[in-house]
Amino acid sequence: MDCIYLDNNATTPLLPAVWECMRPYVTEVFGNPASAHAAGRRARRALEDAREAIASHLGAAADEVLFTSGATEANNLALFGLCGDPPGHLLASPVEHPSVAEPLRRLAEIGFTLDTLPVDAQGCVGADALPDRLRPDTRLVAVMLANHETGALQPIRALTETVAAMHSGCLRNPARFHCDATQAVGKIPVHFRDLGVDTLALSAHKLHGPKGIGALLVRRGVKLRPRTWGGHQQHGRRPGTEPVALAVGLACALDHAYREMNDRLAHVRRLRRLFLDYLNAKAVPIILNGPDDRRDADPTDRRDAGPTGIPHTINLSFPGLKADVLLMNLDLAGIACSTGSACSSGSLLPSPVLQAMGVPDAVLRSAMRFSLSPLLTVDDIDEAARRIAAVVARLRRG
Ligand code: PMP
Repeated sequence: MDCIYLDNNATTPLLPAVWECMRPYVTEVFGNPASAHAAGRRARRALEDAREAIASHLGAAADEVLFTSGATEANNLALFGLCGDPPGHLLASPVEHPSVAEPLRRLAEIGFTLDTLPVDAQGCVGADALPDRLRPDTRLVAVMLANHETGALQPIRALTETVAAMHSGCLRNPARFHCDATQAVGKIPVHFRDLGVDTLALSAHKLHGPKGIGALLVRRGVKLRPRTWGGHQQHGRRPGTEPVALAVGLACALDHAYREMNDRLAHVRRLRRLFLDYLNAKAVPIILNGPDDRRDADPTDRRDAGPTGIPHTINLSFPGLKADVLLMNLDLAGIACSTGSACSSGSLLPSPVLQAMGVPDAVLRSAMRFSLSPLLTVDDIDEAARRIAAVVARLRRG
């Protein structure tokens, strides 16, 4: 039985065209981009072309792009690099990915005060929640763009405007704003400058690029302390020999994503509708966790600032069933998806994202995440929904 892969928020398959772009830089163009000779210069040119292309897609300047090993490193680099020394105040949403939440906990252990912003039942931070919590000594605000478990989009522009207005007097130590845009870049248009953030993290393997590369965009003029030392690459802010082939792969994956953005979005929206319509008819009761009034609206249009989300992520609870049992049975039925819970040392921990949204315990424990990609076909989705409904019906019968 063919496996239908509905776990694209975990990782995506590499596009064959991206691999073709990368291939010469794995084999022939192998020079170290820091070397002065011709082989090095060829590698350097490819690296800088990739940086330029990434910057131009994302509304940044080339010297604002720092290559990292992925979004985990980019998030860590931003959080530790922007905060300076304790004491100081940090603010974050409670629905951040562990690669943001854990470094923040670590910063709290070394003397920073950490507060979380409230989210509503859809997992969205209200822009009006910020003024009450922002303090004169707030060093950093961290809010992601699209949530990894529910797809909920946060009103980043409204949040950065509030921070700028409230901290306009703090010329020496304004609060910095970090945004983890890993689940948004390549899926919806993301414009660094328009968002008004200081730093933004992304990762190639979430957008049909290679694993092992991501980037941190750092606004010009923002002071970022390095986390590693030992080389002058990337102006010493993230030293180490740059992986040229991977950087070319990230740029190429973004080229494809931006060229095909509207078609891909329309296709994924259609897949989502088919999937939910089928399960709403054949697998009742189901509960959609996260924003639900969003999916036919343009997910990039934030003017009305209502709760909205990207169509790729579908977080569904199947009341009465246990997520781990369902996951195992779906795997046997050839469906790759994930639970809305993090599995730690063999025991299922409730998802902090769904908990922060106030999802009741019984609903939370039956939550599954299905994440779509534009490479899926209508037939794939029909077949996946049919298999899921059949497994759910069998398990509910006991
Ligand atoms: N942030 C978010 C929102 C993510 O979904 C992920 C990947 N699960 C990461 C950060 C970490 O990305 P990477 O695998 O590139 O370290």
